[in-house]
Amino acid sequence: MITALYPGSFDPITNGHLDIAIRASRLFDRLIIGIFATPQKNLMFTLEERVELAKAATQHLPKIEVRPYSKITVEFAREVNAQVLVRGLRAIGDFEWEFEMAMMNQMLCPGLETVCFMASQEYQFLSASLIKEVASLGGDIHKLVPKNVAEALKKKAAMLKKQ
Ligand code: ADP
Repeated sequence: MITALYPGSFDPITNGHLDIAIRASRLFDRLIIGIFATPQKNLMFTLEERVELAKAATQHLPKIEVRPYSKITVEFAREVNAQVLVRGLRAIGDFEWEFEMAMMNQMLCPGLETVCFMASQEYQFLSASLIKEVASLGGDIHKLVPKNVAEALKKKAAMLKKQ
């Protein structure tokens, strides 16, 4: 049985993330979307919110599980018995960082293999940070995120506007 861990900040989960998760879940027996508690990023959603959004967006996918974590990724991978780390690669900008991280994880945990999936064409230019920016300015992002995420972004944008 092969368990794969797809780690990230998922702030919030987008259709690009979902596409990678679904494609990876076809290759492995179990796919865990691991949501890192404290990435070095300006977060829009709390850990609980990110987990809830990802859970609701994947509830119809039986091989996919969503779990929060706050330790180093390789430790979490050991804890959940993952043999594979899944990452997504967009055409521009992702390779160097993903390569560096894969090398580091290989050093920290030999035997844990990083498998990168090429982003699908329609999501090549989709990033959670761009989604957050567009949504907070009132842009329509419903084609790029799951329905529950579009609603949450709308609510959050309205809340932030009031502050
Ligand atoms: P991180 O904070 O580690 O960059 P993210 O949650 O932004 O994590 O992304 C997790 C993984 O998903 C990364 O490997 C990232 O490259 C990938 N990813 C993000 N957006 C897309 C997309 N539109 N298509 C494919 N992969 C993506």
